[in-house]
Amino acid sequence: MENVSSRQLELASKISEDAAARQWRDWKWQMRHCIRDIKTFEDLLGVEFGGKERRDLELTLAKFPLAVTPYYLSLIDPQNWRNDPVFLQSFPQSAELVIENNDMIDPLAEDADSPAPCITHRYPDRVLFYVSGACAMYCRHCTRKRKVGDRDAVPDKKTMLEGIEYIRRTPQVRDVLVSGGDPFLLGDERLDWLLGELGTIDHVEIVRIGTRTPVVLPYRITDDLCRVLRSHHPIWLNTHFNHPREITGSSREALTKLADAGIPLGNQSVLLAGVNDCVRIMKALVHKLVINRVRPYYLYQCDLSEGLSHFRTPIGKGIEIMEGLVGHTSGFAVPQYVIDAPGGGGKIRVAPNYILSWSTNKVVLRNYEGVITTYQEPDSYEASFCDRKCERCELHLNLDDAPEDKAIGIAQLLHDDEDAIALTPMGNDRTGRRDEE
Ligand SMILES: *Cc1c(COP(=O)(O)O)cnc(C)c1O
Ligand code: SF4
Repeated sequence: MENVSSRQLELASKISEDAAARQWRDWKWQMRHCIRDIKTFEDLLGVEFGGKERRDLELTLAKFPLAVTPYYLSLIDPQNWRNDPVFLQSFPQSAELVIENNDMIDPLAEDADSPAPCITHRYPDRVLFYVSGACAMYCRHCTRKRKVGDRDAVPDKKTMLEGIEYIRRTPQVRDVLVSGGDPFLLGDERLDWLLGELGTIDHVEIVRIGTRTPVVLPYRITDDLCRVLRSHHPIWLNTHFNHPREITGSSREALTKLADAGIPLGNQSVLLAGVNDCVRIMKALVHKLVINRVRPYYLYQCDLSEGLSHFRTPIGKGIEIMEGLVGHTSGFAVPQYVIDAPGGGGKIRVAPNYILSWSTNKVVLRNYEGVITTYQEPDSYEASFCDRKCERCELHLNLDDAPEDKAIGIAQLLHDDEDAIALTPMGNDRTGRRDEE
């Protein structure tokens, strides 16, 4: 059978005696046989944990559950499993019980920014919509560890409808990010219904799906699923490869089907100590992704969620990786390195510095090779004054539906038609004293 290795057949027969190669490639069989306890994991991998380590592992599982598909487990190198990137992402470690000073249960304040069930509305024009609490594999580095794995957290149709109604009555939402858990653990029919409902909302311009199934359960990407997806375009999809070893024959097939269904594919990686905190690994990963028509989208700094401290790197490691990618490889193979701001500030892009200095008519820059160069600014440049009265403007913005009418944040400081000259944090002592006078 194509794309089922002898190692996978061996595991299949250990899992169930009558397992055939065909079943291995059946996603429902994979889900039914997810490994959820340490004993089965040990048996399949041919290892044994004893003594204190074993006790700590059980404690860890009581806090953060274990689940891994037979497929994903089959990618672990049995010869060097301790350092294996697949093992490290799927198997608990007692280090997860360590809680550091600044660890938080919900570091991104996703619950606080939730105006309706299953919704996080943080940015002006887009929302996160959680449609499943379950995943095929519980990533040990998951930022939503607090939620994922709680099997009651799979919302019923009625709860989903409340989320949909929120989107329907919130006209500024033009981009809906369907997430979870993993949305592709819903059946095709439910997905068809959900995407259909979103499709009836005029102001929803695009739907994005976040799923790790191409990595941990590639057999989920069936022809039937792709038919459903392509009937609801424009659909975009982000997946989550962290290491080049995860790109196998089966995951390649899944990506091909999705790309052939006309879905633009992106990838979000998390920077993980001991897994992918290496320029060479990240470069190999992004190259394999673009070969498979997947555009590297984000590289995340590991969040401050509880139980993740052993995976965190300094931010400097991420900058070093970006330094090793920008200019050294195709521009579209380079992801944006982002830190998701603790407290709910959203994603913040960080990058090496390329501007070295500046004068009134020159900018001094450096490139990826270390060449220092200058850009001569124009002698005369007349910016058009903007008071947002577009009908009088020489730029002829003839878009009746151009909605933006208010500048916020730093953009507000840069705008001609705003009085703001500074942004001051709430509760600032100094301005507080002024008010008292
Ligand atoms: C990441 C995220 C989004 C999408 O952000 P993009 O930068 O557009 O990919 C939307 N809402 C929340 C709460 C998010 O965390
Ligand atoms: S430096 Fe990177 S590529 Fe080399 S052995 Fe270490 S992890 Fe592997």
